[in-house]
Amino acid sequence: MLIEPLKATKISEHAYWVGAIDWGIRDFHGYSTTRGTTYNAYLILADKVTLIDTVKAPFKNEMLSRISSLIELDNIDYIISNHAKMDHSGCLPEVIQAVQPEKVFASQIGVKALSGYLHMDREIVPVKDGESLNLGNMNVSFVKTPMLHWPDSMFTYLIEEEVLFSQDAFGMHLASTERFDDEINEDVLDYEATKYYANILLPMSSFVTKLLERVANLGISIKMIAPDHGPIWRKGINKILDLYSKWATQKPTKKAVVVYDTMWQSTAAMARAICDGLISGGASAKLMPLGSCHRSDVVTEIFDAGALLVGTPTINNTIFPTVADLLTYLKGLKPRNLIGTAFGSYGWSGEAVGEVIEMLKAMKIDMVNEGLKVRYMPNTASLEESFALGVLVAEKLTEKCSNE
Ligand code: FE
Repeated sequence: MLIEPLKATKISEHAYWVGAIDWGIRDFHGYSTTRGTTYNAYLILADKVTLIDTVKAPFKNEMLSRISSLIELDNIDYIISNHAKMDHSGCLPEVIQAVQPEKVFASQIGVKALSGYLHMDREIVPVKDGESLNLGNMNVSFVKTPMLHWPDSMFTYLIEEEVLFSQDAFGMHLASTERFDDEINEDVLDYEATKYYANILLPMSSFVTKLLERVANLGISIKMIAPDHGPIWRKGINKILDLYSKWATQKPTKKAVVVYDTMWQSTAAMARAICDGLISGGASAKLMPLGSCHRSDVVTEIFDAGALLVGTPTINNTIFPTVADLLTYLKGLKPRNLIGTAFGSYGWSGEAVGEVIEMLKAMKIDMVNEGLKVRYMPNTASLEESFALGVLVAEKLTEKCSNE
């Protein structure tokens, strides 16, 4: 193996970051990772040297190089897998081969998931919620976090140094040379943490609320939250916990997202008129043409909005493909507390708007009307109607926000 001279980063007295930085990734199965990402793995130099999580398979040598800057690879005694998803376990079979650890640990479901995904011929020791593991001079304990965001997920807490290794929770896709939150521009952190929650954790919000209550009830002190992607929280611990608690409630705001695609600028003209109507009616509005906005950025905007207006032309008797893509993606993320409607132009039969309305209703989004269809190119009257729809949605949104 080529050992590059890469370094580990010390994060607490005995714990080190030994992960990998993926500067080039731009698509993480449908999520636009415009700032790249990191796959964080951590090494605890206790009597029993312990590796927490590994990295995506192509980055194995980067992780092993960082570990080699501290110890010989065969000095690793234990490996703990907090999360079986392949960006954290993909190289585990090869790492086990290289390291020959005494034991490998995962949650009970993690044991099944790891053997199912990686076809490993190796015993993995299941650990229970609340169980502790003695590392000689130090101890870790395990907190099961099922559905955050996979059934197998768990946290590992390094008791003596109060570091919570939180796998994907509290993470973000952000490649950087800096390892800690207080070293990175706060606006970048806020946006990427929001985008990560909106695109990954949103459908699990009820579990987030329960988990935060559980962690609070454990009465543990947390000096650092070390997730599997992005920076380690050491200054903004309360901030990210408070944000998760707020995000999990999905309270509506007076912001409307108008998302649309267009073929000959008719639906686009309606979208602009609706947007003006929204502003006139007292809402804030964000116009997102799908020709230039990625689905995961649209979802990030919808996440803290209170209204969603979807525009689509009718093409071959149905919805425009980019709009169908967005709605399919959004359906899985289960947004809550939204009102909405659909609009669009058509030439022959105009089925698309009705289809979008049905899809939005199936997502439990409250419809303000049955949508607005305009045949051919909109004229002054139909643009005024579009404007009025914007005003109507803004009024309904104001009413909804005052009732919350
Ligand atoms: Fe991950």
